[in-house]
Amino acid sequence: MISKKKILPQAKKKTSTAKKIEKKVVKKTVAKEMKKAAAPEKESLLMQPPRGMRDILPIDQPYWEKVRKALAVACQEYGYNRIDLPALEFTNLFVRSIGEGTDVIDKEIYSFVTKGGDKVSLRPEMTAGLARAYIQHGMSVLPKPIRLFSMGPLYRYERPQEGRYREHFQANFDVFGEDDPILDAQIIHLAQRVVSQLGLKNIEFRINSIGTAESRREYEKVLIRHLEFQKNKLCQNCRERLVTNPLRILDCKEDKCAQLVQSAPKFAEHLDQESKNHFKRLQEYLDELEVTYVVSPQMVRGLDYYTRTVFEIFSTDGEGRKTALGGGGRYDRLIQSLGGEETPAIGFGLGMDRLVLEMQRNNVKLHQELKPKVFLAQLGDLAKKKSLRLFSELQKNGILVAESFGRGSLKSQMRVANRLNVEVALILGQKEALDETVILKDMVSGTQETVTQDKLVIAVRKILKGNQVVVAKKGE
Ligand code: AMP
Repeated sequence: MISKKKILPQAKKKTSTAKKIEKKVVKKTVAKEMKKAAAPEKESLLMQPPRGMRDILPIDQPYWEKVRKALAVACQEYGYNRIDLPALEFTNLFVRSIGEGTDVIDKEIYSFVTKGGDKVSLRPEMTAGLARAYIQHGMSVLPKPIRLFSMGPLYRYERPQEGRYREHFQANFDVFGEDDPILDAQIIHLAQRVVSQLGLKNIEFRINSIGTAESRREYEKVLIRHLEFQKNKLCQNCRERLVTNPLRILDCKEDKCAQLVQSAPKFAEHLDQESKNHFKRLQEYLDELEVTYVVSPQMVRGLDYYTRTVFEIFSTDGEGRKTALGGGGRYDRLIQSLGGEETPAIGFGLGMDRLVLEMQRNNVKLHQELKPKVFLAQLGDLAKKKSLRLFSELQKNGILVAESFGRGSLKSQMRVANRLNVEVALILGQKEALDETVILKDMVSGTQETVTQDKLVIAVRKILKGNQVVVAKKGE
């Protein structure tokens, strides 16, 4: 056994050394803390965007391009003019348009105060900004109807999952100035045209009428009376909605709420006569256009500004999965409520991210990208310089050319040409640069010739045409 007496002096000695060390450490830590306070330590850098935001990589771009092209065609066919709006607007524009008590305003909107003290928000939807622009630029004097198309990112603080992002992209089509239901039918037809152009086949339209603001208020009272005494059976959200936005209870996804709604008085029975007629005529027009639709009495869409027609577009698959691709409706009172003239309007948004996702799920075929059939190789400083001009000459004549200007060795450039499977390789060395000639190598037959640079375009076209003939003959 080790006696206490023996270890005591040693321990004492150690304690004094330890104390010295401790003092030093404290001194160092204090100095460090002071330094930190003077210049706060850099936060670690995350190599990813904020949650719910994502990059759209080159590999997915051909799908996005196809969507953009289909939208451009629809704009042309139906006479829409493009308008671009800022992604940031004053917060009260959204609050006044969309309404308090909606999920978008209460939970999802990204709002902040700028350094100058302005209360602004990232747009969670397009309509409010569009209505603001309509009023600001005095569009009411333009011949009606006014058809506008806008496209861009929207921001909603939602729980991210596949197909649901905090930054997503929408294409919006809006028509101002007429309230005839033929416009409603036509805009639904346009939506169908876009999705079918993208190769999406199993599409379902759901339509409903939520009447005028007055008939909605009347129905809200009836609904509240029906649900009030059984509110304990509603989900927590719907208990709150009973006070803030009772109509939203109608399209709650919770089973227990859906059951209560089943036995509730129907909205359709409380519609004003004019809205009923409007909705009936819309259905007649859709029948005429052979658009298949389902009347969906529970669909209200969550925003305050909607009146009368509302609709949604779904893509369905064999297993019963439904993906919402877009939605919209009439907002006949919005412009006036923001201080403009009385202007009926209708619009809808297509979720571009969802369109792309559905195209990928359905293995939609994309057009073959145009690939260059000519490669321009250069050797030496002078040739390198001259090849820039040749490149632009070919480009101007509609000939797509690949190159590898950054590489010096002819061998490595020809490797690239082979990898790209081009039909013609153009080689410009020091001698050719001085003689103003180019070596043309037919990569299909392997033959080679030298032509003067002013005849280059004709010579390249001749080889490409010759190859086309060979391909066509082979296919006979
Ligand atoms: P809404 O503006 O809510 O009517 O949405 C119109 C369409 O935009 C929806 O049908 C979806 O296709 C798409 N969408 C809405 N929210 C999101 C989101 N968070 N992420 C991706 N797409 C969305």
